[in-house]
Amino acid sequence: MKVIRFKYQGKTLWGELKKNEVYCFTSSPFKNINYSGLKLKKAEVKVLAPVNPSKVICVGLNYHEHARELAMADSVEPVIFLKPQSAVIGPGAIIKYPSSVSRLDYEAELAVVIGKTCSAVSEEAVLEHILGYTGLNDVTARCIQSRDGQWTRAKSFDTFCPIGPCIETNLKKITNCRIKLYLNSQLKQDGCTSDFVFEIKYLVSFISRVMTLYPGDIISTGTPKGVGPMQRGDTVEISIEGLGRLKNTVA
Ligand code: MG
Repeated sequence: MKVIRFKYQGKTLWGELKKNEVYCFTSSPFKNINYSGLKLKKAEVKVLAPVNPSKVICVGLNYHEHARELAMADSVEPVIFLKPQSAVIGPGAIIKYPSSVSRLDYEAELAVVIGKTCSAVSEEAVLEHILGYTGLNDVTARCIQSRDGQWTRAKSFDTFCPIGPCIETNLKKITNCRIKLYLNSQLKQDGCTSDFVFEIKYLVSFISRVMTLYPGDIISTGTPKGVGPMQRGDTVEISIEGLGRLKNTVA
């Protein structure tokens, strides 16, 4: 099922997207999904980021090929960092290019949406705590990342975390899922989750031993090779098999 979060007549609602129709829920999808009976056309609603996470946890260097591209060895354990809630934007929203930044990069990533509160969850129990999967652009001020030596400022500007377009609750090929990024319709990244250094079950279990995960929290699983810069006026699209496209422009 493709779940979207959207604005309609001033209210924030959730619903299932089927072709171009939205079947509205009575509340968020984190407990039981109940349909309200309201059916809308997709064109009538403004699609938002599919969640409003309490935190976005990102994993650095989780593809073998990306580590090789940066001439770095694979990590022994996952390297994680946070992006703030204030950086989250939805499909179609504008990525703001800060005037203090000289190089702004895209990073196409598959993201996990947590469905149930969990702490120190075992790998075997991870899947029952996941609501589904979405796309995420880990926008990065590369010039600041190298200057600061740690990543908070470079990863945290407002609008640096586009998420969407939906939550797919039944992503079939999680361990063999293609992730592509198009910049102005040109293919720039083309990776597959079969190249992961750390699998999703391991990552969620590992992170949940550090911090309690809440419904709607996002874990982004790292980017494949091919990262590069964006310019003002560019259109950046992340295409994930089975999920659809997350499109944003830079201004
Ligand atoms: Mg990243």
